[in-house]
Amino acid sequence: MIASRSDTTIESIARVRLATLPTPLHRAARLEQALGAGPLYVKRDDLTGFAVAGNKARPLEFLLGAALTQDCDVLVAAGSPSSNFCAAAAVAARVAGLDCELLFPGPPPTAPSVNVELARAAGARLWFDAVPTREGLDDAVLRHADVLRDAGRRPYPLPRGGATAVGALGYAHAAAELDEQCRAAGFTPRTVVVPTGSGGTQAGIVAGQAAFGLPWRVVGASVSRPASSVKDRILVLAKDCAAMIGPDQPTEADVDVRDCRGAGFGVAGAADRATAAMALRTEGLLLDDYYGAKAMTLLRNLLAGGASTPAVYWHTGGIPAALAALREWGTPA
Ligand SMILES: *Cc1c(COP(=O)(O)O)cnc(C)c1O
Repeated sequence: MIASRSDTTIESIARVRLATLPTPLHRAARLEQALGAGPLYVKRDDLTGFAVAGNKARPLEFLLGAALTQDCDVLVAAGSPSSNFCAAAAVAARVAGLDCELLFPGPPPTAPSVNVELARAAGARLWFDAVPTREGLDDAVLRHADVLRDAGRRPYPLPRGGATAVGALGYAHAAAELDEQCRAAGFTPRTVVVPTGSGGTQAGIVAGQAAFGLPWRVVGASVSRPASSVKDRILVLAKDCAAMIGPDQPTEADVDVRDCRGAGFGVAGAADRATAAMALRTEGLLLDDYYGAKAMTLLRNLLAGGASTPAVYWHTGGIPAALAALREWGTPA
């Protein structure tokens, strides 16, 4: 039972329901056999059931809850044209009755981007050439929110990936959900692997671990930022998030991040492609080049190095990119 005071607290925080929860947790017996290690479980947050938002549905539930509580009328977010978060934010804003304005670096993409088109289809207002590079986006969002405020709007500005302490509540809640499922299945995970971009997802899990006393070793596969900087960020976010739901705080020792950038964000190496092919052929899992394949390669390497099991692979989605990548793939050997 998770019946702690913290769980009661998190259930009382404002939230707009978007995802179909709980997402499934299932044992991946064929992948275990292929990897020669186990038990191995997959937490299916590719199946959150809200557009193709994957993990982004969970933080958005709490972010929109906060936006509505503060009587905001427009969500402001930013990211690259490949951003799963921007598309998810656009759809989530619309269903919650808010407008959405999205900032992108550089000109509109020349090749079609599913996420940009999804955001457009949801009715979001898109601003290209907001800044020259991704790095300037968070400041640009704040400036854009000021402009909207001056025009009489009530904006709710979000940093890239929705990585705030409030957004992290989504994965603190998910940690409790996974704990409940593991207990029902009669095991305690030793190793949990999750892909890490902005760090909001891992921060939420770490906050949930502190709040609910979960002894898992959570390892993040950092795909876009150096491990040391994302680690600092995760700890700050996790502490702020944990403070909202209970007395217990995470420490530096709770944040384990590995550098999985390889040749760059969204560039999968040969090993990642082989790992993704294995996941597809054993379990029917679609893994993308930005997040999923690299996190699975990390899990594979950790298991080969003798990491403790049972292990859980947290599938975070990335379905649009996984499908797009199939067009570029040669058939892996
Ligand atoms: C955004 C995203 C992540 C990373 O989540 P963060 O909270 O930004 O660290 C992982 N996987 C997928 C598919 C994503 O879209």
